[in-house]
Amino acid sequence: MAYPDVVLHLPEWVGEVCRDHPGPLTTAEARMALAVDLARASADQGGGPFGAAVFDAAGRLLAPGANLVVPAGCSVFHAEMVALMVAEKSLGSHDLTAAGPVTLTSSAEPCAQCFGALPWAGVAALECGARSADAEAAGFDEGSKPEDWPGALESRGIRVSRDVARADAAAVIQGYVAGGGAVY
Ligand SMILES: [Zn+2]
Repeated sequence: MAYPDVVLHLPEWVGEVCRDHPGPLTTAEARMALAVDLARASADQGGGPFGAAVFDAAGRLLAPGANLVVPAGCSVFHAEMVALMVAEKSLGSHDLTAAGPVTLTSSAEPCAQCFGALPWAGVAALECGARSADAEAAGFDEGSKPEDWPGALESRGIRVSRDVARADAAAVIQGYVAGGGAVY
């Protein structure tokens, strides 16, 4: 029996959103503005209200990501996973340290899956917008994480910044749910 190939395809609109944020994006706020715009556009296009992007140490965009769970029919396609997978494919390596110290900027704090995946991706820093509590308040299931998950990542050498433009990122989640978007 033949099994299907699994393909990750970034929709056209992702590139259009990125073009509105010409880099390098040298501050956490500038990087988060792109992640939040990706989240907003994702929600508008039938995806989940989450965006993420991977940047090199100079703030150059290595890969964008958006939540494609529903459009792609794939439970693991969270925005962070999509950005990491595209960055790794672009670099030709499973280990992003090949690009130097890279930053993953995400419009929301990582769920249990993405938290678990981070140490193996080779990222040096994580920047988060909305808190997990914001996503959970809207009904999203964040899974089981250690209470001190930032400390767990820091102990693996990943610097964590929280609450970067939290209100903007949380507003996208709230707007999506208020508009009747699917919650999972
Ligand atoms: Zn996730």
